[in-house]
Amino acid sequence: MSSNNTVPRVTRAALTREVGIKTELTSDYPVKQVADLEPGECIIKIECTGVCHSDLHFMAGEWAIKPRLPSAGGHEGVGRILAIGAHTLNSPVNIGDRVGIKYVIDSCMHCEMCRRGHEQNCPSRKIAGAHVDGTFAEYTVAFVNHLIPIPDGFSSAEAAPILCAGVTVYNALTKLDTPPGSWIVIPGAGGGLGHLGIQYAVVKGLRVLAIDSGEGKRELCLSLGAEKYIDFAESKDIIADVKATCGELGAHAALITTASNTAYVQAGWYLRPHGTVLCVVICETGHQIYWVHDRVCSPSLRGCWRTLTVRFLHSQLAGKYDATSQSGRLARLIGVVLEDMSNGKLVGRVVLRY
Ligand SMILES: [Zn+2]
Ligand SMILES: [Zn+2]
Repeated sequence: MSSNNTVPRVTRAALTREVGIKTELTSDYPVKQVADLEPGECIIKIECTGVCHSDLHFMAGEWAIKPRLPSAGGHEGVGRILAIGAHTLNSPVNIGDRVGIKYVIDSCMHCEMCRRGHEQNCPSRKIAGAHVDGTFAEYTVAFVNHLIPIPDGFSSAEAAPILCAGVTVYNALTKLDTPPGSWIVIPGAGGGLGHLGIQYAVVKGLRVLAIDSGEGKRELCLSLGAEKYIDFAESKDIIADVKATCGELGAHAALITTASNTAYVQAGWYLRPHGTVLCVVICETGHQIYWVHDRVCSPSLRGCWRTLTVRFLHSQLAGKYDATSQSGRLARLIGVVLEDMSNGKLVGRVVLRY
């Protein structure tokens, strides 16, 4: 099945050909043709894509999941369905629908993890941009059962960052039962997840202390509702500085949105007794957090759950947030975006258009 929009034989794409934080723009990457689609597969013409720090980890080969090479990364894409594989049964989406592609692009839907809504733990799951090509290709293959319908009234650029960054911090904060008026510390607050975390935390009535570095991030964090900003490059004692703001007992919660062991260790020292660490971003060597200082620890890894994403997008809340700080064409991915992201200089989220 296909629409009048024909599927081209080749596509523009930003490809990773070897391990390392670099991509190469090409205009002749082969596109799977409609007749070759398996049941359940479809072809999406991507309109725009967010760039996530996980893309960097995949490119650098830093995670246990190694990307297929060459591959197109990206897992925050919004586009339209051009074709659906023949013999696809009970598709929840149709040709022409505007949909989102997220981190878990497919799973078996039948195993215990899938039945419990934990598709990210499905042994057969596929990760966009690692196991299969993701949203850094203009025409890409996706799987009908895991596409997220994008509600009207949402621009594609607004919706894209919600599909990974937004739903990840939203998921973590929905698990936090700290009462309104409590202090939450957000290390990495000026980045893609952190700047959304500030906004969601403020809606929950929490008081936000943002930690990051640089004037651009300071301005963004304070403009989004953080009451206090600590520049970790200037602070001589982060623990003392947090307690000077949140009281001698310390902060009530920490939402860790940076892949830094130091951020986890510091949280153990500046949280008050029974404080909560929301482990949103964990680097490969970060697991010692589970043993720090008797603090309560609530792991909430990557909010890629289908139902949660759909619920959030339809909650009337998502569109209220400023989810993007920068935009540009796909070519910006090469050089500027990847370099700034790996140097920790990227402010907010970047969304790239085709
Ligand atoms: Zn991501
Ligand atoms: Zn499964």
